Amino acid sequence: MSLNQSTERGLLIVVSGPSGVGKGTVLSELFSRDKNLSYSISATTRGMRPGEVDHVNYHFLSREEFSGMISRGEMLEYAQYGDNFYGTPAAAVEQMRSSGRDVVLEIEVKGAMQVKERVSDAIHIMILPPSYGELEARLRGRGTECEADIEKRLGAAKAEITAADRYDYVIINDTVAEATARLETILSAERMRAQNKRKLIEEVLNHAVSVHS
Ligand code: ADP
Ligand code: 5GP
Repeated sequence: MSLNQSTERGLLIVVSGPSGVGKGTVLSELFSRDKNLSYSISATTRGMRPGEVDHVNYHFLSREEFSGMISRGEMLEYAQYGDNFYGTPAAAVEQMRSSGRDVVLEIEVKGAMQVKERVSDAIHIMILPPSYGELEARLRGRGTECEADIEKRLGAAKAEITAADRYDYVIINDTVAEATARLETILSAERMRAQNKRKLIEEVLNHAVSVHS
């Protein structure tokens, strides 16, 4: 008899970090290595960037569609960031977790704190840059925002970095390889937590009983 670990409820992993720190880059590396992870596709009212695909990077919604989801109670969390709204559709997260998939939410700090209130077993990880100067260089180097938007994002970054001590883990994205390895270490440890392992423990006991009887 083999032990069936896939029946466990999946983890909820919240990843935050100032815009331009490299969340997307590091998570994409992590996803290419870890096949039990699912990405929660957020809803947003912001416009699409070149290369982005609707329902892959985000569900791109009008303000009316976004407020409709809020009033129907369909968002696990939501927040305003800059001039736009961003939120996590709750149903998809629940469906993935209950099928045993570990779900990653890449969201800003206000939304992350709402998840902390509502989901007691969520794991919160903050990604920080090696320095503020390096953050600015990465954000400008990406070249996807106009100067005014870059200034707003750098302004928001100070409050986000300050909130890092409200997270369970803080990792520095100095190199993509090292930051990805740190995330993998956190996930391995969290997957071994005893509180997540009730079904596995039962299976070990049942297996032991069948071997010795
Ligand atoms: P975020 O998703 O946090 O807004 P991105 O993943 O878009 O950030 O990364 C912002 C820019 O920084 C991109 O141009 C990316 O290639 C670059 N970048 C990401 N991680 C690193 C790193 N460790 N070292 C140097 N540049 C990086
Ligand atoms: P961007 O416009 O760069 O894609 O995202 C801007 C900010 O919104 C980032 O900090 C990103 O993590 C955050 N964000 C993306 N999706 C969500 C979401 O569903 N909820 C919240 N609260 N923030 C989000």
